[in-house]
Amino acid sequence: MFEIPFLRPNLVKKERLLSYFAQIEESRIYSNYGPLNKKFEERVIDQMFQGTGAAVTVHNATLGLMLAISQSKRPQGKYAVMPSFTFAATPLAAEWCGLEPYFLDIERDDWQMNRDQLERTVEKLGPQIAVVVPYATFGTAIDLSVYNMLVHRGIPVVIDAAASFGTVTPEEAAQFGKGFTGAVVFSFHATKTFGIGEGGLVYSADRDLIQRIRQAGNFGFSSARESVMPGLNSKISEYTAAIALATFDQFQTSIDKRKAIIDSYRRELARTGLLEQGWSVQKIQGNVPLQFFSILSPSSLDNREVVHRLAAHSIEARTYFSPACHQQKHFKRYPHSNLRVTEHVAKHIVSLPLWEEMNETTVQTIVGALASMGGEASK
Ligand SMILES: *Cc1c(COP(=O)(O)O)cnc(C)c1O
Repeated sequence: MFEIPFLRPNLVKKERLLSYFAQIEESRIYSNYGPLNKKFEERVIDQMFQGTGAAVTVHNATLGLMLAISQSKRPQGKYAVMPSFTFAATPLAAEWCGLEPYFLDIERDDWQMNRDQLERTVEKLGPQIAVVVPYATFGTAIDLSVYNMLVHRGIPVVIDAAASFGTVTPEEAAQFGKGFTGAVVFSFHATKTFGIGEGGLVYSADRDLIQRIRQAGNFGFSSARESVMPGLNSKISEYTAAIALATFDQFQTSIDKRKAIIDSYRRELARTGLLEQGWSVQKIQGNVPLQFFSILSPSSLDNREVVHRLAAHSIEARTYFSPACHQQKHFKRYPHSNLRVTEHVAKHIVSLPLWEEMNETTVQTIVGALASMGGEASK
């Protein structure tokens, strides 16, 4: 046991669920896009996306990615172009859709898919591309103009925005993804900022796309209960919808708590001068209620060593996403571009604790432990 664990998920307390559970007993509807599910989807669209577009819940983001890719991919295409620096669920979802992942590098500053490589890959692979699947790394907003352009040119885009539910973009002052006509997939896994156990949501400004995903997620049934498209069962139960509604009721409080902790991290990093000593952080766009706090260790110190030394201070840290996808046994066979930045980041990424009961002192202890490892003198 660590004195400072990496995560302490803080799901909604049972008292807040009771009134919603009572509604389930009343309606005697337990699943199949029931009344609580409908209410949750409506609240998300009205309150987070300012009434623009449509959304459908899914049992987890992996299923959301599978359905979104399956419903948007070009039938003749072979590849799902994506960054290697993402969670294994992204390439796995592409495989379930009969596609091969094609891995690209990330940008040095914000760790999102490399734009030059993407442009060159689009030129090179042409119609062999079935779909492009960028990742909004660790919850950051990403520049949608590039992807709007691809959609405009007929190249489907599904954004893995697993950790971006609650991220507000500076230009729109709305939830990241608002207005995008490709698909945007969010995860509600217990470890995410909007954690409900298992769950997720697919958003798009294209209402027809969401309608097709909703149908595919219910066995591909037509209104006559005949399978008319490739389908599966991705529905959440009304109990899960109840947890989602109760979580939504107090989401702003969770976001505020996380923001205070993120501010503490930034203050401590500035005070200790670590960012002048070879440590670095992601350049983030928008207001992001992070799931955990990521930092890169100096070139002379790899992340395994940092995690090991933090453990000696009874602090638990992780190394998301290391190994990167192209380094994992199952994905090694797939084509990829030059992945220099990904390989550097995979060697130096350290994910630091972030949970809602943490305070300034906890953050000081963690950053103090990093500072005791030294760095590189600035030149
Ligand atoms: C968490 C996560 C997923 C998977 O979400 P689930 O809801 O657990 O299926 C996919 N992609 C990324 C980048 C994630 O962080």
